Amino acid sequence: MALIVQKYGGTSVADLAKIHNVAERIIRTYQAGNDVVVVLSAMAGETDRLAAMANAATGDKPTPREYDALIATGEQVTVSLMAMVLNSKGFKAKSLLGSQIRIVTDKNHMAARIQKIDADFILSELGKHRIMIVAGFQGVDRKGNITTLGRGGSDTSAVAIAAAIKADYCETFTDVDGVYTTDPNVYDKARKLKKISYDEMLELSAAGAKVLHQRSVELAKLYNVPLYVRSSFNDDEGTLVTREDEDMEKEVVSGITYDRNQAKVGVIHVPDEPGIAGKLFTPFSERSIIVDMIIQNASVDGYTDLTFTIPKKDIKQVEQLLDVVSREVGAERVHIDPDISKVSVVGLGMKSHSGVASKMFTTLAREGINIQMISTSEIKISCVIGAKYTELAVRVLHDAFAMEIGQ
Ligand code: ASP
Ligand code: MG
Repeated sequence: MALIVQKYGGTSVADLAKIHNVAERIIRTYQAGNDVVVVLSAMAGETDRLAAMANAATGDKPTPREYDALIATGEQVTVSLMAMVLNSKGFKAKSLLGSQIRIVTDKNHMAARIQKIDADFILSELGKHRIMIVAGFQGVDRKGNITTLGRGGSDTSAVAIAAAIKADYCETFTDVDGVYTTDPNVYDKARKLKKISYDEMLELSAAGAKVLHQRSVELAKLYNVPLYVRSSFNDDEGTLVTREDEDMEKEVVSGITYDRNQAKVGVIHVPDEPGIAGKLFTPFSERSIIVDMIIQNASVDGYTDLTFTIPKKDIKQVEQLLDVVSREVGAERVHIDPDISKVSVVGLGMKSHSGVASKMFTTLAREGINIQMISTSEIKISCVIGAKYTELAVRVLHDAFAMEIGQ
């Protein structure tokens, strides 16, 4: 008997047949004697549809408060349907919105952070033998305005609830049956991992792996919530995301991922003086534009070049900002290249094994793939390459690190 939080993503609740299928799994978990809190996403495609409507209605300028009020409705549909399906099968279940369960967030619409969850309320309902079906992705600020946590945010809702009620573990059900060494759609030799550490999963999510919302992994790590990634379409045990152990250290590289949603920006021939980088990047942070890799060349004759990556969706805004700022800092010109991708290898074993970087670089070189930018962390190496080489790079790196067999 355990206290379990189960999160089902949009593809798992995409239609009534799938909702019935999920209901059966919830019932099995409940009948095995567990207390179950279920967190749901909207039906697949629904949040996109609502967002498109908001944009169409306002010429792409919806007010954030009303945008959140609209896009949060997708989850209201799935939680109420799920609860009534469970009721119709003879089980006590109750749907709850973010406001009803008092998931309090800051007031940062579209990217709100959870501040508090009423755990006592959830636990008292569970004590009455009800299955709780909670809307993911949403909360309310202190004034009661509806907020959302950022796209893909219901993973984060689920882990936050699991942490608040001290659940034994959190399971997220999706359309893949775990975390793979790389995207199986890109390379059929990808292998499913039984276990991965929070830190590796964080690096993989940050570097483009879409299986879990990055903040859900941060929270899982912070509160030490064991997190299973499983498929709602089979009974496979999935991948456990957990604290690192000795076995994990042996794996030099555990995952390879790629991100095609970045663009490369070059600010060329800038005076190399104190305060320049601050001036350049402040306007981005003020608009919550996430700048990822940043490289500054060694200066020559008092001038330098700055190269960095930004999300492709922000290109227009960055162009406008740089139009002004690049003149302010005296840059010669600005160059934006959307035709890139970032390929990353991640592994705890990198801490204790040398040679991962050189193996990555020589493997890419052997295929004639030029490396445009490099960045590293303790357990990750990322390279920016031409977009057309993405799949090739993933495959040759997967082979080079013998990832289909593991260490
Ligand atoms: N329905 C929301 C989205 O599509 C939240 C989620 O799926 O996690 O972004
Ligand atoms: Mg989703």
